[in-house]
Amino acid sequence: MPRVRRTTKDAKDHARRVCAALKRAYPEAACALLHHDPYQLLVATILSAQCTDARVNMVTPELFRRFPDSASLAHAEQGELEALIRSTGFFRAKSRNLLAMARRVVQDHGGNIPRDLDALTALPGVGRKTANVVLGTAFGIASGIVVDTHVKRLSRRLGVSTRNSAEQIEQELIQLVPRAQWVDLSHRLIHHGRRVCVARRPRCEVCTLALICPKVGVSAASEAKATKKARPSSARTGRSGSTAR
Ligand code: SF4
Repeated sequence: MPRVRRTTKDAKDHARRVCAALKRAYPEAACALLHHDPYQLLVATILSAQCTDARVNMVTPELFRRFPDSASLAHAEQGELEALIRSTGFFRAKSRNLLAMARRVVQDHGGNIPRDLDALTALPGVGRKTANVVLGTAFGIASGIVVDTHVKRLSRRLGVSTRNSAEQIEQELIQLVPRAQWVDLSHRLIHHGRRVCVARRPRCEVCTLALICPKVGVSAASEAKATKKARPSSARTGRSGSTAR
């Protein structure tokens, strides 16, 4: 098993290999939240807190039909908004944040979503992660690296970060990865985290990054279970021959 790199040069070399492998595996990785403009992406990202992107994508078509821009959302009736987003969870807090965000965008930015990290994080319900999503995906501005639960988990397992908090991990990744790759790296790590390097039982046996991954924190038992599950029953029992009909 490869060892976790520690010197700055080794850490950057390792991060470069990880980025290259992810790019080969997911060349077209993109944001999974359906949107057509910065306003829609900001609303969808706020709704995605503690909720799957798939669920958010079920809710937003009707929400955007009713409230197509920040001006219309700013005048929404809270009860109607709550009903529309109820299935995404925490719907009361989210509807309050959406209303306050839209009103602030109208009041301070003429109804346009700001293209600036400080202005975005000053909006109600918008933290650094949400701001990075909007700036990177909607505006193509690499203001930082989006560190969600997948990026957090994979950064540690892949040995590109030793830190625990999202803020610390982001700062470490920023030091190791060229700015031009920040936006795509997040999308690719999230894709890989959903499909292969899943939380409970990472599928190391089918992972294209296995040869360069130190598998930090991945227990041998977890790997063995995953390998056993992936092998056909005949291979596990040692039986061979034609399939029974
Ligand atoms: S699935 Fe296993 S080998 Fe692949 S990135 Fe995750 S821990 Fe590493």
